Amino acid sequence: MIVRRCVGLLALPLLLGCCVVHAAPPRGFDVLHYSVALVPDIAAKRVQGQQTVRFKAEQALSTLTLDAGTLEVTSVTQHGRALAFAQAGQQLHITLATPLQRGASAELQIRYHGAPAFGLTFAPEREEVYTLFSTSQWMPSVDAPDERATLDLAVTLPPALLAAGTGRALPTRTLADGRIEHRWRLDTPMPGYVYGFAAGRYQQATQQHGPVQLRYLSVERSPAQLRTVFARTGDMLDFFAERAGLPYRGDYQQALVASTIGQEMAGLSLMSEAYGQDVLDDADQIALMAHEAAHHWWGNRVTCAGWEHFWLNEGMANFMTAAYLQQAQGEAAYQAQVDGWRTRLDALRAKGADHALVYADWDAPTADDRAVVYRKGAYVLHLLRGELGDAVFWRGLRAYTVANDGRSVVTADFQRAMETAAGHSLQPFFDEWVYTAGTAAQ
Ligand SMILES: [Zn+2]
Repeated sequence: MIVRRCVGLLALPLLLGCCVVHAAPPRGFDVLHYSVALVPDIAAKRVQGQQTVRFKAEQALSTLTLDAGTLEVTSVTQHGRALAFAQAGQQLHITLATPLQRGASAELQIRYHGAPAFGLTFAPEREEVYTLFSTSQWMPSVDAPDERATLDLAVTLPPALLAAGTGRALPTRTLADGRIEHRWRLDTPMPGYVYGFAAGRYQQATQQHGPVQLRYLSVERSPAQLRTVFARTGDMLDFFAERAGLPYRGDYQQALVASTIGQEMAGLSLMSEAYGQDVLDDADQIALMAHEAAHHWWGNRVTCAGWEHFWLNEGMANFMTAAYLQQAQGEAAYQAQVDGWRTRLDALRAKGADHALVYADWDAPTADDRAVVYRKGAYVLHLLRGELGDAVFWRGLRAYTVANDGRSVVTADFQRAMETAAGHSLQPFFDEWVYTAGTAAQ
């Protein structure tokens, strides 16, 4: 089976209308913490929210710009005092009451509402709502993957719904009108695109895997079916943790939602109900859930600093999926993945669509561009494994992962770690396979 793609991230640079590859000017501030309270209206496909943003000035700062999608911001205040703001080009520009000196921190309160066309998916027929990567579409925030902050997220929902969110679940609160406020706290700074939640008229199952609680949610599947669909989860987490050199952190939730190609968030992955059926029909169809689980390390904890290094997230998740399949299902399963990548790369080359993995033009990625990042990226990791041998390759990969846990990385970080493991320069390999279109598939 070809590993399916995380559609949200594929579309993200396009949706954001930006790309970090054009040497975006420094933001001038570092977000430390968001505290967000959301009230979705599932039937109306609308949301209202209020949030506090705490940030630190990295230079003398008189204005602050956040991504805000199509949200309509109704007020921005600081210590109860209204601040001037303007919205343009899916951004929110805020004028601070008093300029901040470098190193000073401040808090702002923002109120907003909107009807996001993406980033927040409403499925009223299932009484379901879930997020889809483009976090700034439902909370003003910084979309760039090199910005990490902690998060308090509260979502107020009708009483019959279950919810899963990013971070540690805090006790729910029952409001006077019977609605339930679900709350989560993400204590570890994470990039904004992995914030989110899913809520619906779910059934659920839980299992304990060592210190990790596994939780599965679906509208359509029974708890017994959910345990069958996600039976390999603990085994996957163990495999990736061993390869990463880092144990899984926190609890892990997986939800089958109305429609998605698959997406990872912090401690929460979403797949579609249709995918759940695929796994019930054929228990070997676990590549997608492995891909999303792999992102816990490669993507969420070690994150590409800009979308031009996106192959470090997606090529790596595809490669790690194949490595897991190799262990779980045997050599043929690994080779089938490799063959799929190579076939796609051959097709790209046949029509002149191959290009470097570090790819500077993600403004409007095509299917071919995505194939380069997802498939060729994985294939190049397979080639590097062959070049270095298993012992050196896995030692280097583990060192890279451990050294960059909680950091945003560029391709040079990966190259350096692998060169250290190899004991020699890998520049010729990276020049051929990573930084240029290369010549011919080997
Ligand atoms: Zn992915």
